[in-house]
Amino acid sequence: MRLRNKPRAGAVIGDHPNIVIPEPENHKGKWNEVFGNQHPIHIEVGMGKGQFVLGMAKANPDINYIGIELYDSVLLSALERILDEEEEVPNLRLLNVNAQDMSDFFGKGDISRVYLNFSDPWPKNRHAKRRLTHENFLDLYEQILPEEAEIHFKTDNRGLFEYSLVSMSQYGLILQDVSLDLHANEPEGNVMTEYEEKFSKKGQPIYRLEAKYPK
Ligand code: SAM
Repeated sequence: MRLRNKPRAGAVIGDHPNIVIPEPENHKGKWNEVFGNQHPIHIEVGMGKGQFVLGMAKANPDINYIGIELYDSVLLSALERILDEEEEVPNLRLLNVNAQDMSDFFGKGDISRVYLNFSDPWPKNRHAKRRLTHENFLDLYEQILPEEAEIHFKTDNRGLFEYSLVSMSQYGLILQDVSLDLHANEPEGNVMTEYEEKFSKKGQPIYRLEAKYPK
């Protein structure tokens, strides 16, 4: 993700606390109050400019979505995309936070599914702990998900995909629906991310898997 410093990002984000939730730790254990219903909540960790999470929210009105993004300049694009919609998207919220801190604002079972799309690969071994499929992150997700919940992961990066297969299976996750070329047999209802559109247009295969936590 190319980062452009956008000095107005903080102010615009601050003007929309109904979409970009300030002080998310205040909602730990009671996120359903934020949405005003008891629907399950799915998160995308590292949502970038938000194409996927917005597409999912519009396609699945009975599921609530939270897009998590570290950089305000990137999150601003997601926010502007939501504001450009003709109608409000009541089942979508954004968080401008580091996913490393997510156990501060989500309690066990607050979240029903984690999406990881085109996560930064961090190819150097010394940066392995930053990969969103490192065992430390798998442990964090386990702290906020109920038993038997799933992570859905897509990437164009073969190295990260291979690393994640190993990391997830060593952690004890059950791998299912592993695809080495998602678009060769695209499942119905696949919502493309920005990176997915970019890489699949270039003819690159998209890798995908679902990983389930055990009982
Ligand atoms: N998911 C989008 C897609 O598929 O088009 C964006 C992919 S982009 C390569 C990865 C995004 O994850 C970046 O915007 C980055 O800032 C964000 N990110 C990486 N590590 C993160 C973390 N620890 N917490 C929150 N966001 C993170």
